[in-house]
Amino acid sequence: MTKMKNNEIIKKNDEIKFTITTLTSQGSGLGRFKDMAVFVEGAAPGDELLVHIIKVKKNYAVGKIKKIVKKAKCRIESDCEIDTRCGGCAYRHISYEEELNIKKQTVTDALQRIGGLGIEVKEILSIKEPKNYRNKAQIPVGMSEDGNIQIGFYSKRTHRITDSDRCLLQKEDFHTVIPLIRRYIAENPVTIYDEKTGKGLLRHIYLRQAHKTGEMMVCLVINGDSIPRKERLIELLLSSGKNIRSIVLNINKKDTNVILGDECITIWGSDFIEDELCGLKFRISPLSFYQVNPEGTELLYGKAKEYAGLTGNEVILDLYCGAGTIGLTMADKAKSLIGVEIIPQAIENAKENAKLNNIENARFICDDAKGAAKTLYDEGIRPDVVVLDPPRKGCSREVLETVSSMSPETVVYVSCDPATLARDLAVFNELGYETKEATAVDMFPRTTHVETVVLLSQRRPDTHIDIKLDLSEIDITAAETKATYQEIKDYVLDKFGLKVSTLYISQVKAKCGIIERENYNKGKEGHRVPKCPKEKEDAIMDALRHFRMVQ
Ligand code: SAH
Repeated sequence: MTKMKNNEIIKKNDEIKFTITTLTSQGSGLGRFKDMAVFVEGAAPGDELLVHIIKVKKNYAVGKIKKIVKKAKCRIESDCEIDTRCGGCAYRHISYEEELNIKKQTVTDALQRIGGLGIEVKEILSIKEPKNYRNKAQIPVGMSEDGNIQIGFYSKRTHRITDSDRCLLQKEDFHTVIPLIRRYIAENPVTIYDEKTGKGLLRHIYLRQAHKTGEMMVCLVINGDSIPRKERLIELLLSSGKNIRSIVLNINKKDTNVILGDECITIWGSDFIEDELCGLKFRISPLSFYQVNPEGTELLYGKAKEYAGLTGNEVILDLYCGAGTIGLTMADKAKSLIGVEIIPQAIENAKENAKLNNIENARFICDDAKGAAKTLYDEGIRPDVVVLDPPRKGCSREVLETVSSMSPETVVYVSCDPATLARDLAVFNELGYETKEATAVDMFPRTTHVETVVLLSQRRPDTHIDIKLDLSEIDITAAETKATYQEIKDYVLDKFGLKVSTLYISQVKAKCGIIERENYNKGKEGHRVPKCPKEKEDAIMDALRHFRMVQ
């Protein structure tokens, strides 16, 4: 019997009736029609739909809703006028409760399918009201084909701008500022940047507002060095009655999709705004990363601190530290903090932020995470806790290997991309770090994005290695005096001033035939794990002799 081809099951322009069973991590509804996957934008799980097929591929089809035959229980009326045109939100037609369930499941699925981890996300933390949470807006400015200025939001998967002053995700005060900038543009010879030709001045409006203080930064991103009649812009903005503290030009002359250029010129007020998070003050420059949802950030940082399990004696390494925020909120419970970040302005902010909060046990390094981690390793820095909060692409294998060779007891991994997180956790697993717990935090309500914080612990071989023992071969003397890994670590630290990892001890034990060899030298697929350096091997051997585990 020949199998039916997909384009025999469904053809373009067909109208089919079926039920949506789930949502993808990209926010599309997914259901099956005669065993074929059909994706439908704007659908809710449980919807019974009449769908018009617009595309048929080898393994799936894509359709548009023609009619909702029966509404899903979780379906609600979207409260946004531009929801169907704007690419920002994905879940406005679904109850927030259901959105949280979907996101928790999305992260669990990624950890299990991509990471191969047998773990479920413990919970998803959420803010009280899933609206007006965004403290940052990057609003594109362009021209429509009929020559009108467009200021608003990109439509789904395009650079076409949906003109609008209002976004329900953003801080209310932004909606007062945008019309003032429109007025400034209308009154003055301000040209608009054209992505195709690279000509024109104004590219983006970039706004930030501090949650606790209400201070605002207004920034125009321009393809040039100045704007016409800047005094008029300043005058208009100051007439808003809002707490504007900083007006800035960002210079971006490059032919790129990256919104901000490297140079900023403050044309009025201060170079930064100040906010408060977790009881600390933070100074934020235009180029510094700062989490966009302050209430969510407090939940996230609170969980990260809990996972760090601090007692006051720990050295913390905060890699990808931005303006130092996560690490600084942990510093009061740690011995010392080292932050690493690649953007110079963010590191300046981090240093100022430490001073502003009288935190004296912190230092910050401006460098690439990979290079800095290696340098710190070579300097003999062995943190007890490493916090990782990389951009969406996650960490390179080299960063993960260097972190594990530093042998921290605990790694706290904060991620805004469940897929790269899961990939990196799988590598950590090979390197001897076990994922203990994961919590999702809904930092970006109504969009498809979700944040996750994960606790990893250095695996103690004692607790998971099966050793086949032949009773007749047991050396009673050695067994009686067998030291724990912790005792060996303490002994080596005391006598040689060296910190050694459980992994290194295992490698040396394996070398002496005390435990089986294979597990400690190779990860899955033959990847090498860090090898115990000679100096440490000698120290561990000394300890094994001391505890009479070897002759
Ligand atoms: N932990 C911070 C920032 C997290 S965002 C917070 O919670 O606010 C990720 C940060 O990594 C950004 O500040 C970005 O500038 C920085 N970054 C990106 N690539 C990097 C690299 N290769 N090395 C170091 N930092 C990097």
